[in-house]
Formats: sequence, C-alpha cells, structure tokens
Amino acid sequence: EPLISVRDLSVRYNVARTGNTLTAIEGVDLDVREGEFITVLGPSGCGKTTFMNVIAGLVAPTTGSVTVDGKPVTGPGPDRAVVFQDYALLPWRTVFDNVKFGLEMQKGLKGDGWRGRVQEAIELVGLSGFESSYPRELSGGMQQRVGLARAIVAKPRILLMDEPLGAVDALTREVMRDEIEKLIAATGKTVLFITHSIEEAILLGDRIVVFKSHPGAIKEIIETRLDRP
Ligand code: ADP
Ligand code: ADP
Repeated sequence: EPLISVRDLSVRYNVARTGNTLTAIEGVDLDVREGEFITVLGPSGCGKTTFMNVIAGLVAPTTGSVTVDGKPVTGPGPDRAVVFQDYALLPWRTVFDNVKFGLEMQKGLKGDGWRGRVQEAIELVGLSGFESSYPRELSGGMQQRVGLARAIVAKPRILLMDEPLGAVDALTREVMRDEIEKLIAATGKTVLFITHSIEEAILLGDRIVVFKSHPGAIKEIIETRLDRP
C-alpha cells in the first residue's frame, strides 16, 4: 500500500480581483511508496507548489482526495514537514530556537529529551557551533540548512521540499544536493522535491514527475535508472 495516494486531484482558486476561478491543477493521480524520493519538475505556474501544499495540508482539494497512510489529509500534521525556497526562518530567533520551533509547531516540547533532539538535528545538517547565530549572520546555504533541521527535528515520515535550493548559489547548491541525498538515504524518509533543475531532478529522484501547464497536470512520470550508492 502506498504511503501517499493522490486521486483525481483538482484545485481551483478564486481570483479575488476579477471574481474568476483559476484551475491550478486538474485530474492529478499519484501513488508514492514509503522511502521513495520523488522529484517534481515543470514550468513556472504549472501547479507544483499547489500540489505540494495539498499534501502538506495547507491547501484543500477542490475535488479529489489525498491520503497519507490511508487517512485523508485534513490539515498539517507531524507526519509531514515542509522546506521552503525562501527558508522562512524567524529572524529574531537564533539557529537553535529556529530549529526548536519545528518541535513547538508539533507540540513536541514535552519531557526533557527535546534539547537533545534539537542538537541532533543541528548536527545532522552540519551546523554545530552556530547554535547562537541569527539567520542574518548566515549564508543562504546555511540558512537553508537551518530550514532543513527545523523540518527533520520532529522526525516526520514525509519531507516536502519546494525548490529548497532555488535561492542558494550554484556551488553551494551542488554541495547541498549531495548532502540532502545522503541525509535522506540515512533517514529513509519519503520525499517530494520540487525543482527547476533537470540535473537535480535526475540525480535525486527515484521517479521524476513532470508537470505541464494550462491546466496544471502530470505530463509524464519518468523512472530513473541510475545506480545509487
Ligand atoms: P508552480 O509552483 O508550478 O509555479 P503554483 O502552484 O504556485 O505553480 O501556481 C499555479 C497557478 O495557480 C498559477 O497560475 C498561480 O498564479 C495560481 N495560484 C497559486 N496560488 C494562488 C492563490 N492563492 N490564489 C490564486 N491563484 C493562485
Ligand atoms: P517566544 O517569545 O515565545 O520565543 P517568538 O520569538 O516567536 O516567541 O515571538 C512571539 C511573537 O512576537 C511572534 O509570533 C511575533 O509575532 C512577535 N515578534 C517577536 N519578535 C519579533 C520581531 N523581531 N519581528 C516581528 N515580530 C516579532
């Protein structure tokens, strides 16, 4: 049984200014197995973010359904975490407190194990020593490492990444792509990873889901045949 099941999913937005509706995605079907790394590729505006936001529980389906582990998605939950392109860190909080926020959102601060979990997540993304730094003191790549640590700290089964390396410079991007690949392999998480980079889609994805526009829909699904370490 798939971990994520998407059935005939359509999302329409009401465009407030004009009173029209806009079909962001239409008729999307996808099954994702536990442990799979799915990359999502497609032109701007084809509905990739909308698709991911429905799985995250941040946008409701207009028609169709999404289930995780057989249960309908009705909102955000501790089994899913999101990594955003613009990092979305809290600027007035340190690295440690930003990662701690990942537990707070999931009401995970009970007991006394939480400090260790925050520290462990910070170590996993290679930011030991930067616990007391503020986001503005860090490079883009380091800020996204904080975003990654915040996402994994509550140990979600599913990581939803919306162009996580889109705002990172080219060299750092390549390094982080490899780091993310290792981190995911080590933790066995199920991943949906939106990207504009064909290279990233091929190197990271077990399957590449290619979207088309007008309306947004899956154009094809490509099984990669690369041998993985
Ligand atoms: P992508 O991530 O592939 O760029 P999006 O899911 O962000 O695509 O957007 C798909 C379409 O839906 C676009 O035409 C976009 O303008 C529109 N859209 C996205 N979010 C909203 C919203 N909250 N209200 C109205 N239209 C939206
Ligand atoms: P806590 O004080 O419990 O650690 P936060 O640091 O998130 O929680 O701050 C509580 C609230 O105060 C935030 O949700 C935010 O709305 C507001 N806030 C605090 N500092 C700032 C800031 N520098 N800029 C904008 N809003 C802030």
